[in-house]
Amino acid sequence: MKISYLSLSEKRCTIQFYGCNFKCKACFAPNKANRYTEVTPERLITEIKQFDPGEVMLAGGEPTLYRRELIEFIKMYDTKIILTTNGSLLDSVFIREMENTCLKEIHIDLKAYTTKLHEWYTGSSNQMVFDAIAQLNRSNLDFEVMTVFIPGIIDTDEIEKIAEFLAGIGTKIRYKIIRYVPIGNISQRPTEAEIKGAVSIAKEYLGNVTSSLEERTHPLRSFRVRI
Ligand code: SF4
Repeated sequence: MKISYLSLSEKRCTIQFYGCNFKCKACFAPNKANRYTEVTPERLITEIKQFDPGEVMLAGGEPTLYRRELIEFIKMYDTKIILTTNGSLLDSVFIREMENTCLKEIHIDLKAYTTKLHEWYTGSSNQMVFDAIAQLNRSNLDFEVMTVFIPGIIDTDEIEKIAEFLAGIGTKIRYKIIRYVPIGNISQRPTEAEIKGAVSIAKEYLGNVTSSLEERTHPLRSFRVRI
């Protein structure tokens, strides 16, 4: 599997996987050609264990591009693991394989509810993401749905549609609204009042809504994996 870099914070090691099947207009991932290291799950575990992190986050890029190796990694590494994903490749077999492993939590993005908007923003349909959320809700995996609030694009009206959709699957689904960091020059950073307003609207549908305003962590360092 291809890794862009590892980053360390006080409590976790984050693995940034290389490559993605979406093309988000405000993508934060460093997916420049050939800036990756190819590693096996065993090699990656050996590399990470020297830092003895309390937890490991699989992030991207899109980690689920490396489905077979990802399952191997999760089954082999006996530590708390969190997967962040765009959800488009999570089918029922994949989800079943992840059940009863060390995977503690999945953070799944639902970037937009309106399919045309999702297609404009990511280059892909959101149907697979809808299906993945419904299947996760039937699984024994703990998961949280996330949306980046982008003023004028993924705005309050879109957040409300997502919250209503999620409530139709289950009102106990955890939902988190992330504050857009201006990348791609498509909008400006939302104000705290805008984020709080979006959270209030989502709470009309869902019992557990949070936002990135409540959490600020900074990596201690980032580095490329050596082999
Ligand atoms: S899903 Fe994430 S990594 Fe992929 S293009 Fe979108 S923002 Fe970038």
